[in-house]
Amino acid sequence: MIKSIHPIPAFTDNYIWALHASDSKQLAVVDPGDAAPVVAYMQANGLQLSHVLITHHHPDHIGGLQQLKSAYDPVVYGPEPSGIAGITDFLHEGDSINLFGHVFDILEVPGHTLDHIAYSCQQAGQAMLFCGDTLFAAGCGRLFEGTPAMMVESLAKLSSLDPATRVYCTHEYTLANLKFASAADGTNEDLQRRISREEDKRRQDLPTLPSTIELELATNPFLRCSDSKVVASIADRTGMEPDGPVEVFAALRSWKDKF
Ligand SMILES: [Zn+2]
Repeated sequence: MIKSIHPIPAFTDNYIWALHASDSKQLAVVDPGDAAPVVAYMQANGLQLSHVLITHHHPDHIGGLQQLKSAYDPVVYGPEPSGIAGITDFLHEGDSINLFGHVFDILEVPGHTLDHIAYSCQQAGQAMLFCGDTLFAAGCGRLFEGTPAMMVESLAKLSSLDPATRVYCTHEYTLANLKFASAADGTNEDLQRRISREEDKRRQDLPTLPSTIELELATNPFLRCSDSKVVASIADRTGMEPDGPVEVFAALRSWKDKF
């Protein structure tokens, strides 16, 4: 089983999630954009890299892969379409993997990139999601390759998971995302309460992650494209009544891109 999950900070605001096995010294990491902090973490904790999980092809998610692979020869899971060098097991929608006794279902979640996948464990009481740059705490990834309709569908897959699912995304963007959320959904009381909690964590230099699906449904404007207040704020801003959640999402995303 997975004993614990820790963030290994990388670059300026990435987290490489480190999953410790309970009955061995084995370690799995998610999206190692840089090898050096992973190696230092393994040495400090006496661990051996056995598995790597990749969500998509961006360099800040795969940059350390070759070095880790040649040094430790882990099993490397990842998506197929972009031909990432070093993946040993290509995964697709509907596949599942067993990691330290937990079953993770593979979800294809295009939008940020076309190859993006997420790893979802829905075991009761231990539900967890590794979703890369698709769903962020209080935000979502930019649309580098996909369309708004694709991203709305991908986010719908994630937001329909068990509300207790812990959400492990890859960046500490939460405070900036909450600032935007407050502009788009300012009268949301759950959101205002969340802002003061997350600001407290950052003042103590703690990660704001993991989040939960329940918290994201209550406070993430990109999951609230059918909420009447979010719709009204988009209508206010654009001067036009949006026609459905995909239009609301597209308007939110382009607003956030310039925010
Ligand atoms: Zn990315």
